[in-house]
Amino acid sequence: MELIIGSHVSYTKEEQLVGSVLESLGYGSNTFMFYTGAPQNTLRFPINENKTKEALDIMKKNNIDIKNVVVHAPYIINLANINNFDFNVKFLKEEISRVENLGVQKIVLHPGSHVGIGIDNGLKNIIDALNMALKENSKVIICLETMAGKGTELGKNFDELKVIIDGVKYKDKIGVCMDTCHLNDAGYDLKKFDKILDEFDRKIGLKYLKVIHINDSKNIINSHKDRHENIGYGYIGFDTLIKIIYHEKLKEIPKILETPYVEKCAPYKEEIEMIKNKKFNEHLIEDILK
Ligand code: FE
Ligand code: FE
Ligand code: ZN
Repeated sequence: MELIIGSHVSYTKEEQLVGSVLESLGYGSNTFMFYTGAPQNTLRFPINENKTKEALDIMKKNNIDIKNVVVHAPYIINLANINNFDFNVKFLKEEISRVENLGVQKIVLHPGSHVGIGIDNGLKNIIDALNMALKENSKVIICLETMAGKGTELGKNFDELKVIIDGVKYKDKIGVCMDTCHLNDAGYDLKKFDKILDEFDRKIGLKYLKVIHINDSKNIINSHKDRHENIGYGYIGFDTLIKIIYHEKLKEIPKILETPYVEKCAPYKEEIEMIKNKKFNEHLIEDILK
């Protein structure tokens, strides 16, 4: 089976899903991830059905399976705290229906930050919010992202994610997105990735793993920072990331790059090429800027 790999791509009011697909094809991807608007705000615009149809057609012709495509929910909605709780739940409900209209099946969500009310209360709020937003007939899976543990972020370890999943009523509508930078920053040693997968399988179950964000990290293990680095240029390193990307047990899981732009240039074409070659490109940055 072919590697399922892509990156974060843009999604504009004008071109919508068509723009996202074309951008990802330009990187040599066979999947992609996008925000349905700006990641840092909740302003959203209506979906153009014609654009969606056109995009699905382009995807079909290029062997992009929609089930591997991912939407990332805006990171400012915080389901862990009661501040703006009703607004956030309402936004999540609307986001689910937007994503369903686009035919996309996976939504990556940052669980939230408890901002002082404590881990248990925060986790309880997240569970309540998810149970309010997910319906029996929802066609999406909400994938809780593993977080770096910056500030009061929840989801920084598998135990916290397990508490949330245990509390969610519709278990077939909940999953996990591992982020390699976040795992590193949260204290997981990615050099021992099999051990991490075993722990995940024991505590949560591998079938819940739906997406992997592939990022290097600007910081050392357990730094709780969350600053992404280009593949092979950070503290995780190329060989470790390649082992994860090509892991036998993760073949069917989409891998999404969220590495930083280099002087306003997207690095994804060059990074994906390097990943496909399985050989570190020490001239990556120059190649991106070419
Ligand atoms: Fe994220
Ligand atoms: Fe991520
Ligand atoms: Zn991050």
